[in-house]
Amino acid sequence: MISVRPDLRALDGYHSPQVDVRVRLNTNESPEPPPPAFRDAVAAEVSRVAWHRYPDRAATELRAAIADSHDVDPAMVFVANGSNEVLQTVLLAYAGPGRTVATFAPTYQMHGHIARVTGAQVVEGERAADFTLDPAEVDRVVAESQPHVVFLTSPNNPTGLAEPVDRVRQLLASVPGLVVVDEAYAQFADWTALDLVGEDVPLVVTRTFSKTWSMAAARLGYLIGPAALVAELEKVVLPYHLDAVKQVAGRLALRFSAEMDARVKQIVAERERISTDLAALDVDVVPSGANFVLFRPRRHAGREIWQGLVDRSILVRDCSGWPRLDNCLRVTVGTTAENTEFLDAMRALLALPPTTDENGASR
Ligand SMILES: *Cc1c(COP(=O)(O)O)cnc(C)c1O
Repeated sequence: MISVRPDLRALDGYHSPQVDVRVRLNTNESPEPPPPAFRDAVAAEVSRVAWHRYPDRAATELRAAIADSHDVDPAMVFVANGSNEVLQTVLLAYAGPGRTVATFAPTYQMHGHIARVTGAQVVEGERAADFTLDPAEVDRVVAESQPHVVFLTSPNNPTGLAEPVDRVRQLLASVPGLVVVDEAYAQFADWTALDLVGEDVPLVVTRTFSKTWSMAAARLGYLIGPAALVAELEKVVLPYHLDAVKQVAGRLALRFSAEMDARVKQIVAERERISTDLAALDVDVVPSGANFVLFRPRRHAGREIWQGLVDRSILVRDCSGWPRLDNCLRVTVGTTAENTEFLDAMRALLALPPTTDENGASR
């Protein structure tokens, strides 16, 4: 049997453990499917798809609709199968063997993972104690490794924190390579780095239909960046990678932006309720600009709370094994009823005496 590339041997795949539960608050999806009118419109248009022909390779109409929604030129829009494929294409074009990619932890683990798969070397800087970017640390990483690509997730996952705009400006000024701002959760935050994008700025901003648009099943994402860079990405990506059905679904989804904005408002209001109610308990809460909240029980082990929630058929993400997030759990904002159920369960679990200490050892 031929062996895998030596640099991939030590690599771990992406894991998001699934458990069969009633209340699923672990993967930051939208709690509701898209509006019925959207699903009807997609069904009607899909019935007219020319199944025997390859799809529009340039995804002309979809890119025009996305460009229109952000008031940019369609040549500045690159679309792919989920923002993860967008990121992979960027890394294939601008990272790869002999090049260096920088991330600042704790953050979305796929950035480093995809970079390694392309053969790039990954340098992991650390965020400040409050989980924002630390300018001194950025300078240190840049001086030591002169990265070709630097990732910033804002709002960050799993912390939820939106990066202050000044920190992003600083990053752009001090980094020699391409800055990728992953804005998977931008609609839930107060500002976007899109305003900083320009033809002569080494910056791309990535977005996804997986979260706000309730379309995780469709796998659709995009980036906005300089047209010259988008042209390079088009060379790298596989021909006809974006199927006709998805192009239809994405284009039609954008007609429902008013409905989606209303949902974002509702989720933000629920996020604030969750944050406020958790903070009133024996829990530290990280301020969130996303559709989830990271928290750390003070007296109980995170793992014990996680298990207690699972026992009540509620699943949150256990982040306690991640670097610098010991004892932390992340809850996705669900429906009002789901959030109430989660908060009630938290009150009940935190009222119990801890059975294990923070390290998981029995008391
Ligand atoms: C969920 C998420 C994505 C979404 O990826 P898709 O491939 O578009 O589903 C991207 N980046 C971050 C930081 C995320 O949390």
